[in-house]
Amino acid sequence: MSRYDPECIFCKIAAGHIPAKLVYKNEHVVAFHDLNPVAPTHVLIIPQEHIPSLSQLSEADTVIAGQILLAARVVAEKTGVLDSGYRVVFNNGPDSLQSVGHIHAHVIGGKSMGWPPFPGREILHGQD
Ligand code: AMP
Ligand code: ZN
Repeated sequence: MSRYDPECIFCKIAAGHIPAKLVYKNEHVVAFHDLNPVAPTHVLIIPQEHIPSLSQLSEADTVIAGQILLAARVVAEKTGVLDSGYRVVFNNGPDSLQSVGHIHAHVIGGKSMGWPPFPGREILHGQD
């Protein structure tokens, strides 16, 4: 089954309808450079099919989920960060600042990073 959302920018990239700097592609996923990189390596991996976010993943998407993680390794290798280290991030929902509603993994590397990853706003839920 193929899922395509004509309003979704990442569906358009996957279909080749708008350009992106591709790093890797197979029948399940596409990896391309982020338009606004936050590190020397900043690549997005998306499934070819439209899945809005991690929260919408189902058992039927097991192959896609695995393919995204395997592609992260390929991207790390291709961008030269396999040994220096890299972070794989799925933003999911408002608190994480997910801005594109088509599931994507950020592969970030090429610089040392901090932890924890939330230096910005401090809004805690369920507390005063
Ligand atoms: P997120 O905030 O996790 O939803 O990440 C969305 C990412 O998509 C951001 O880092 C954007 O810079 C990136 N982005 C948005 N549009 C494009 C595009 N047309 N090509 C490449 N990256 C994009
Ligand atoms: Zn989409």
